[in-house]
Amino acid sequence: MKVSVVKETTPGERRVALVPEAVVKLRAAGLEVLVESGAGDGAWATDDAYAEAGASVVSRSAALEGDIVAMVGRPDAATVAALRPGQAVIGLLSPLTEPELTRSLAEAGVTALSMDMIPRTLPRAQPMDALSSQANIAGYKAALVAAAEYGRFFPLLITAAGTARPAKVLVLGVGVAGLQAIGTARRLGALVSAYDVRPETRTEAESVGATFIELAAVGPASGEGGYARALTDDERVAQQQELADHIARHDVIITTAQVPGRRPPLLVTEDALKEMAAGSVIVDMGSSALGGNVVGSVPGHTIVTEHGVTIVGASALPSSMPAAASAMYARNITALLLYLIKDGALVLDPEDELQAGVVITSGGAIVHPALRESPPPEAPPPPAQSEGGADHVVPGSAG
Ligand code: NAD
Repeated sequence: MKVSVVKETTPGERRVALVPEAVVKLRAAGLEVLVESGAGDGAWATDDAYAEAGASVVSRSAALEGDIVAMVGRPDAATVAALRPGQAVIGLLSPLTEPELTRSLAEAGVTALSMDMIPRTLPRAQPMDALSSQANIAGYKAALVAAAEYGRFFPLLITAAGTARPAKVLVLGVGVAGLQAIGTARRLGALVSAYDVRPETRTEAESVGATFIELAAVGPASGEGGYARALTDDERVAQQQELADHIARHDVIITTAQVPGRRPPLLVTEDALKEMAAGSVIVDMGSSALGGNVVGSVPGHTIVTEHGVTIVGASALPSSMPAAASAMYARNITALLLYLIKDGALVLDPEDELQAGVVITSGGAIVHPALRESPPPEAPPPPAQSEGGADHVVPGSAG
């Protein structure tokens, strides 16, 4: 059985699906590994390193011949067109927001495995949990990007030239990324507060050193599978209004709020932005083509509002730490492959809860129950309005 790694096609994507260390593991399990020449360049994994690890370094068309084609993100149209029935493709395919891609993979007769659909609460799925591995990296980097953009210190500094008070950081959304952002901002010496709609996050936030903020206007909003549910319109407005006071009292805001398959909830409104002091910084990890957690944030760009608030549209943070992100993703994907491959063949068992989660198309059909009748994603909000000021690409985030 041949497992291939192709170079990512998303502009600016620097991660690679398998690193040389993972090739060694797959070779030890009796698998042949093909790597497209240059696939690891962005993550400093050279063709020579792959060859030394036992992979064959080949052209893209040869790599696309593999029985299982591994990638980080989604295949583009040309890649899908090159696949043949019976081949498997594995990546972060975002099927909840990309129904067209899911349909085209089913029509191509390809078995598609989506790393972002792994049932994360199953203990045996934890080594395969790519959403968590990449969110950890993103949360860490978000705190560093915030510190770099902020024109003052994060820690308390007492010097002969005066005393700097510690930065007040507010993390909105306390999932995997939020907890890592809290821990990193704390280690940099900031005073950190945190808020989430899931009440169970209070103890988690406190355990990594944040003060938890509770809103009077919004009740608990835990949904299924450990995720948040979408708020009603009334709850959303009440949340935005009550959050605005807290936001105004902080120097740095890091937003990580997500609801699976939905547009990220808007937490920082135009009114809240106006109340923030000039020099404040917001890192919006929810920033995406569907809209972000912050009004006006633009994915992959940093803007400064006319009131002097810097908003970083941090949409591609894991890719800005390509070596660490690729190493972790490669461990996730290797764990899944070794789980699925028995005696040199990909053996799928739809009765297995883990596989029922991860396999989205098979035998020419969409097989995942959540996708068979999935509604189209919500329409994106009106185009983001930047309020003038500088507009530059976030260092490292888009490329
Ligand atoms: P996520 O990326 O889906 O969302 C990030 C956070 O945003 C969540 O904590 C969510 O509650 C919050 N959020 C959503 N809407 C909000 C709003 N309107 N206002 C404020 N906050 C809002 O979450 P995630 O990081 O992928 O993690 C989701 C859950 O899965 C967590 O409970 C995590 O601990 C759990 N998890 C469990 C396992 C496991 O059991 N092994 C593994 C991974 C994750």
